[in-house]
Amino acid sequence: MPTLTLGDFELSIFSDGTYPLDGGAFFGVIPKVMWSRKVTADEKNYVQAGLNSLLIRTGSKTVLVETGMGNKLSERMIKFYGQPAKLLTSLAAEGIAPDDIDIVINTHLHFDHCGWNTVHDNSGKIVPTFPRAKYYAPEGEWQYAQNPSERDSISYISENYNPLVESGQMTLLKGGEEIVPGISVKTFPGHTAHMQAVIIKGCHPEEPAFGAHPHTACYISDLIPTSAHIDIAWGMGFDLYPLQTIENKRQYYAKSIPEKWLTVFTHGADVPWAYVEKDELGKMVARHASGS
Ligand SMILES: [Zn+2]
Repeated sequence: MPTLTLGDFELSIFSDGTYPLDGGAFFGVIPKVMWSRKVTADEKNYVQAGLNSLLIRTGSKTVLVETGMGNKLSERMIKFYGQPAKLLTSLAAEGIAPDDIDIVINTHLHFDHCGWNTVHDNSGKIVPTFPRAKYYAPEGEWQYAQNPSERDSISYISENYNPLVESGQMTLLKGGEEIVPGISVKTFPGHTAHMQAVIIKGCHPEEPAFGAHPHTACYISDLIPTSAHIDIAWGMGFDLYPLQTIENKRQYYAKSIPEKWLTVFTHGADVPWAYVEKDELGKMVARHASGS
């Protein structure tokens, strides 16, 4: 399990497993001759996508960013995606029980990002997987999810969030809020209109901002889903607003590169996080982060 220290905070990646995605859809308009140098596709043109959750221990709170695909997929969706459902086992292997999670943050509400928000109990009722946790998700995303377009309605499973909003356990965010000291959200439209990245600043106030160790990390979610998508123009075919993806990647890099942020990739099957840098020729490169 990849782990590293970010100032006072400890960051770890926990995976819900991997699932197959069509390589063409994963890389949008990028030709296969180009993307196949970075990832391998099987005979059906599927590539393996990861389902990385980020666990942050702040010292006082345990925060889980994203909850993978979960275990409530329909038969039809299992045919497409399988249902790895490994997150709770991965957490348990490190001694983390559902009761230990204080806060859950969803960047958006696609089924592969909030699937373990809820589970069926023995009687078939939907209950929160993390009973003590306060859940957070973008308000605009939740509103959109009530009536999504035909293009992406398959991505929304209301059992993952509506029961939590109804019970008051999920708080809806406008974007820009600090959820606990050092952990805030910022809206980066492109993949969806309201997706929010999670920015983690783990430094002591008296420490210099750019020391030998990273002080800021960003769970950038589907704005940059894997380290193979770091080029400004390499968006996913799933993005609803591809030109906004490009503009927001540019804005993200304008801060993350000079400030040496650690970027966390939701769907990186092999590389869950890296430092994204620009080389002398202006090409984006992902520099290995210790712990991965
Ligand atoms: Zn996704």
